Amino acid sequence: MSKTDSDNKMNKIVSLCKRRGYIYQSSEIYGGLDSCYDYGPLGIELKKNIKEFWWKHMVQLRDDIVGLDASILMHPKIWEASGHVDGFVDPLIDCKTCKGRFRADQLDSTPCPNKPSKMVNQCGGELTDIRQFNLMFKTHMGPLEEGGTVVYLRPETAQGIYVNYQNVLQSSRQKVPFGIAQIGKAFRNEITPRNFIFRTREFEQMEMQFFVKPDADTEWFEYWKEQRIGWYDELGIKKDNLRFHQHGENELAHYAKAAFDVEYLFPFGWKELEGVHNRTDFDLSRHQEHSGKDMKYFDDATRERFVPYIIETSAGCDRTLLTCLADAYEEEELEKDTRTVLRLSPKIAPVKAGIFPLVKRDGMPELARKLTDELKHHMMVFYDEGGAVGRRYRRQDEAGTPYCVTVDSQTLEDQTVTVRERDSMAQERIAADGLLNYLRDRVQ
Ligand code: ATP
Repeated sequence: MSKTDSDNKMNKIVSLCKRRGYIYQSSEIYGGLDSCYDYGPLGIELKKNIKEFWWKHMVQLRDDIVGLDASILMHPKIWEASGHVDGFVDPLIDCKTCKGRFRADQLDSTPCPNKPSKMVNQCGGELTDIRQFNLMFKTHMGPLEEGGTVVYLRPETAQGIYVNYQNVLQSSRQKVPFGIAQIGKAFRNEITPRNFIFRTREFEQMEMQFFVKPDADTEWFEYWKEQRIGWYDELGIKKDNLRFHQHGENELAHYAKAAFDVEYLFPFGWKELEGVHNRTDFDLSRHQEHSGKDMKYFDDATRERFVPYIIETSAGCDRTLLTCLADAYEEEELEKDTRTVLRLSPKIAPVKAGIFPLVKRDGMPELARKLTDELKHHMMVFYDEGGAVGRRYRRQDEAGTPYCVTVDSQTLEDQTVTVRERDSMAQERIAADGLLNYLRDRVQ
């Protein structure tokens, strides 16, 4: 996709998000806060559905993974042990000409703010030397800033899992191999947040840490790679837009023995969506060393004692949401016009059905409201009686609603309704009392 097409597509997605209530710029009435976004009525439903879909696959359907919700603020020593205080840095470079700040390792893909057709390393601006910049947000605990303890907003959810691993083992009766899953906010003071919600300073992660015997790491690593790319397929993401990227020696994080990214073809190119990492025994050994607490596991069956290896699957919730939007967005040429349609998988669509009375009389609104009241105990539905029915369909197409149900004059005679499917626009008549099962079969 050319740069102009890609910018166009992103601009259209951003504007649809605002128009339909998916995502707004944070603090907009004060001019906005760079890289912070708020999820609107549809956005929050989509995000909740993505998280539930992840949780279902990673926890509910598995006997060997349990959940956790650790606090965002944790003991500062955790971040010393993990290596974040010393090593969670990005190389920062300033341009003396435009006064911009950039990540030194991304200059050839960062447009110059003054000359957007050129990249920062091609625009002729005078660059400073590179400095290392720690990405953790610092704050203070206690009423006084001086004298208070410096604490960090967690830059990843993983550490909360490692420091709870013995608690979970003892309380859940799990045995190695087993995993702990967590969804939660993480914060990184990114130098160049960009591309809408792709890279922000506050975001949500969906992480799972799987504890295995040291010699079983490669086998489990391969297993989790396949599981995780398969999950995006089940989420309805087009296979052609997904691929693996293997980290070369120079890309590997200090803790990793092997790492693969699941990448998605965004309008702005192939980018990381999720990391699958073999973290070895690095994390637990470091916490053992720094806390003085034993992190070894005793295997009853083999009588062995070892520090487990960890296979991590670390996905960004907001990035997955952007992926779903970008993958689903389409402008479809019809005979007379073009319609914008979000072909979201019905499993994650924010609203499952729009319920319409064809006209606002003859008892149709009352019947449509009655159907809405029944269905809303089971799924998100939306009652709409405003405007011509064709326009109401189009609004729901843009919102990604997979089904629209219309109560018309025939409904009054034979208690059937018209169901229109978003993608094919095909319509069929079904009995109103079979509507719940009809929708359930298709959206869950
Ligand atoms: P990147 O190279 O893009 O900065 P990373 O390799 O540092 O990402 P991880 O630390 O592996 O990312 O984080 C796991 C996942 O969390 C990423 O794959 C991504 O989906 C998400 N993520 C990381 N940083 C951000 C961010 N600033 N904004 C939104 N999501 C993020």
